[in-house]
Amino acid sequence: MLALNPAVRDLLRLPIREYHFSIPVRMDEGEIKVFRGFRIQHNDARGPGKGGIRFHPLQTVDILRALAMWNTWRCAVADLPLGGSMGGVVCDPHDLSPLEQERICRGWVRQVARNMGPEWDVPSPDLMTTPQHMLWMLDEYEAIHGNKSPGFITGKPVGMGGSSGRKEATGYGLMIIVREALKDLEIKTINTTASFQGFGNVAQHAIQLYQRMSGVATCVSSWHHADQTAYAYRKKSGINLDELLAITNPFGEINKAKALEMGYECLPGEAWIEQDVDILVPAAIENQITAQNVERISPKVKILAEGADGPTNPEVDVLLGQRGVRVIPDILANSGGATCSYFEQVQSNMNYYWKRDEVLGKLDVHMTSAYIDISELAHSRKIPLRDAAYIIAVERVTRACQERGWA
Ligand code: NAD
Repeated sequence: MLALNPAVRDLLRLPIREYHFSIPVRMDEGEIKVFRGFRIQHNDARGPGKGGIRFHPLQTVDILRALAMWNTWRCAVADLPLGGSMGGVVCDPHDLSPLEQERICRGWVRQVARNMGPEWDVPSPDLMTTPQHMLWMLDEYEAIHGNKSPGFITGKPVGMGGSSGRKEATGYGLMIIVREALKDLEIKTINTTASFQGFGNVAQHAIQLYQRMSGVATCVSSWHHADQTAYAYRKKSGINLDELLAITNPFGEINKAKALEMGYECLPGEAWIEQDVDILVPAAIENQITAQNVERISPKVKILAEGADGPTNPEVDVLLGQRGVRVIPDILANSGGATCSYFEQVQSNMNYYWKRDEVLGKLDVHMTSAYIDISELAHSRKIPLRDAAYIIAVERVTRACQERGWA
């Protein structure tokens, strides 16, 4: 659709730079163990790279390459002046003491400290990495370079260079986009109901803002570790967020017995998808809306807002469109977190921190304008929002590459 020339295709298909390295770490028992670490810089034509650092035992360089590319598109869709990167270490923090984790963090930075930085490539937390890990990494980076550079990394603790509003940003951003989509459809939020898959960081904050906009969330689901299955919790009159938060553990698992005591219906995990609601919000994991369950979606559903990454399988995308469901694609719908990381970077580089209201106000402006760009293109070319989002992202990155003379 974009008629990209062969040089652009070659440039975008592969990361522009990759670093693969070994991190020797002295373990608590005294022996040295060598961990594999990576930083993948997919494309930085639009600005410094941005992307997480993941600690995972099953990490592969191909997964990191894919995530780095996805970050390029996510930043471009949100019109952030940033490129896409991703990094990680093959390790399982469950089996490592805090001191061993600290040595891995510092070792990772020692290997890439000269190939990263506030003006070049900025990491952030991802799977199994935390604000504490980010702070150790920052400390090592500053020791190597001999200066204070809080803009080297984002996702730091608030008060130590982190941004207010970061924890709410993805869920709030998601609902800001839903609000705009409802306006397009000329539906008032007060007349809508919604069902959510997942009850973690994204879903909890999305529900909070949705309820403030007078929407009624009737169903949420969460994973039950002991039973190794998910359950959906329903209250047709509307769930009480504070009451449910009080019986949810830090992993987003709702206590089933207490939910039953509180009068919630406890249904099989997949029930979230078949609720008679206006809005469906998958906010748990990937591959959840498939050819096997798509028919169970109620004809009442008008919007499917992808909080999670990749929840809708490609083969059902077209079907949902034919049924008149407006699918808001993940790279737009959950880009509030990336946007707030960008705000943290800006604040850290200035060493001047905004109040929460200012951060969330700027988030609203950014998300709204990203949605308007994409929905106008989708409308004028009569294409789904997902195609429009990818067209805008790839086109913006292509233009930056061409204007720099790279392609
Ligand atoms: P989280 O770990 O805080 O919560 C995940 C929730 O999903 C938990 O309530 C868990 O019980 C539930 N869950 C897991 N498997 C389930 C299943 N099979 N059925 C029903 N519920 C299940 O995670 P999060 O930060 O809320 O992220 C959710 C999704 O959003 C992920 O796909 C993540 O990649 C994506 N995302 C998150 C952010 C962010 O800033 N947190 C940003 C962009 C994308």
